[in-house]
Amino acid sequence: MTAAPSGAPARPRVRFAPSPTGYFHVGSARTALFNWLFARQRGGTFVLRIEDTDAERNREEWVTGIVSAMAWLGLDPDEGPYRQSARAGDHERAVDRLWESGALYACDCTREQVEARAKANATPGYDGFCRPRGLDRAGHALRFRVPDEGTTVVHDLVRGDVRFPHGAIEDFVVVKSNGQPLFVLANVVDDIDMAITHVIRGEDLLPSTPKALLLWRALEGAGATLPAFAHLPMLVNEKRQKLSKRRDPVAVELYREEGYLPDAMRNYLALLGWSHPEGREILPLEELVDRFRLEDVNHSPAFFDVTKLRHVNAEYLRAMAVEAFEEAARPWTEPPLAPWPAENFDPGAFRALAPLVQERVSLLSEVPAMVDFLFLDEPVVDERSWREATKDREAAQAVLAGVAAAFRSCPWTAADIHAATTAVAESVGRKLGRAQAPVRVAVTGRSVGPPLFESLEVLGRPRALARVEAALARLGADSA
Ligand code: GLU
Repeated sequence: MTAAPSGAPARPRVRFAPSPTGYFHVGSARTALFNWLFARQRGGTFVLRIEDTDAERNREEWVTGIVSAMAWLGLDPDEGPYRQSARAGDHERAVDRLWESGALYACDCTREQVEARAKANATPGYDGFCRPRGLDRAGHALRFRVPDEGTTVVHDLVRGDVRFPHGAIEDFVVVKSNGQPLFVLANVVDDIDMAITHVIRGEDLLPSTPKALLLWRALEGAGATLPAFAHLPMLVNEKRQKLSKRRDPVAVELYREEGYLPDAMRNYLALLGWSHPEGREILPLEELVDRFRLEDVNHSPAFFDVTKLRHVNAEYLRAMAVEAFEEAARPWTEPPLAPWPAENFDPGAFRALAPLVQERVSLLSEVPAMVDFLFLDEPVVDERSWREATKDREAAQAVLAGVAAAFRSCPWTAADIHAATTAVAESVGRKLGRAQAPVRVAVTGRSVGPPLFESLEVLGRPRALARVEAALARLGADSA
């Protein structure tokens, strides 16, 4: 690529360049999102480039994981996925050019030798031992000759100008002794060839950025148009530790499986390091695209707060049209995610309760526990709830006996069941709220769930009665 014409390009080209070395991390998803938002906002191009040159650490399933998680989040690339490994020829040609121009030199120092000498040296890192030796290229590592004088300045849209004096940058390895170009080279060559104008990525890559710029200039000439950078703040957990694969739930896939909605996840990810100028947090996609600014990204670490993510998800769930909620919940209404046999599921019964369930769950994975009493032959009784609701055994017995009698004849609508239960509560001298507890546990097995009378209506009289009677029998047996 020759240097781009002067002036900022009107339509940026950005790239998301993950290395497929593990599950797709929420931090990577945030980087992908910020690139995508920037491209969409400016009518630019969003490129997906899989940096898969480290054959030992890469796995194909992780590439699939990246592509599918991005599709789930709606972060569609305009170009790619390109494979860095497919561009090995371009990387080698770039190395040839650098070698021929004298930007590189060969080095046969072992790591031990470098370390032993570094102890005695004033500056850390490689000491330039092989610079004057004129070794042959073949079979040797190749290092970049960093100028002794001067400074490389990284223009960062998030951090401002970050200065790296050359005296503090060692002559870094660009090609290993087996001829394999390293990440820093492949990354720059690809960015040049793909005409990338803005490099938006995690701040862990800031320290290697001056090396990238030195290479960029060596390849493109001193007057080359360099990309702008935006290094995004790292994500931390509640203890302010960097999010780690081992310690924290970081895989996007995990959130998808737990029943987070892609829109909620994307909305929350946008708030990791960026905030709306008026502090609004629930932001539809068009608004995110419209208001997002790299310049408004913060430097300080962003707390990945799962509680807040849940809250955002609950808001999105509540705001959905009920049909959309039913559709989103569908996988959780079928085995293996649902605990009932497939043939027991009654879509009409689910639909009847769906609006009430929708208001009460934060995650789609909470749906089965809200409605399993409808689709299991017998409710799974939560023993703690049972003990709690029947602590006053006599009162529980009186309520259950009263409703058993009333439920036999009252009209079977939520309003009538409500009225009948209220009458029973009065007759045994209990508040309705307390009187409901044993009925709820008898019928649903739990102490929390959708409103009781609607639940009973949908369950139907015969099953409701049978469960109340079974609970009465159990109370009798427990006391015997
Ligand atoms: N492949 C690098 C990584 O996953 C990212 C490179 C970049 O964005 O420049 O850490």
